Amino acid sequence: MKTDFQAHCECGEVKINLIGNPRVKGICHCEDCRELLNTPFHAVTAWNEDQITVIDKNNLLSEYQHPRLSMKRIFCSKCGETLYNTNAMNWRVVSQYLIKKCNDGVLADELKPDSHFYYGRRIIDINDDLPKHD
Ligand SMILES: [Zn+2]
Ligand SMILES: [Zn+2]
Repeated sequence: MKTDFQAHCECGEVKINLIGNPRVKGICHCEDCRELLNTPFHAVTAWNEDQITVIDKNNLLSEYQHPRLSMKRIFCSKCGETLYNTNAMNWRVVSQYLIKKCNDGVLADELKPDSHFYYGRRIIDINDDLPKHD
């Protein structure tokens, strides 16, 4: 199967292949991403379920359903690294940084953020030229 982008967890046991272009690529400032991931904002690529393939030969992939949010964290149970999370639309949300670090520190142009969203809910101001949507 054709693969356009790849990433893996820290220990390398779990890999993901991504096909096509993400439905969203941007920087999310919503409370839910903060709550799920303990990060001030979430630089994401979001994919449909059928655009992602997981390679997990030793069945290490685990998921954590947040008790209040319609979101899950999907992570490697050996190293603990999050491969992606899901959101209320059941999109597969992969960190831009994870893809970047797994590809020699280069994030493909097709995956670079094109906007900020939920910017009105931010806790940190970002001074860049990208459009900012509330
Ligand atoms: Zn791992
Ligand atoms: Zn968010």
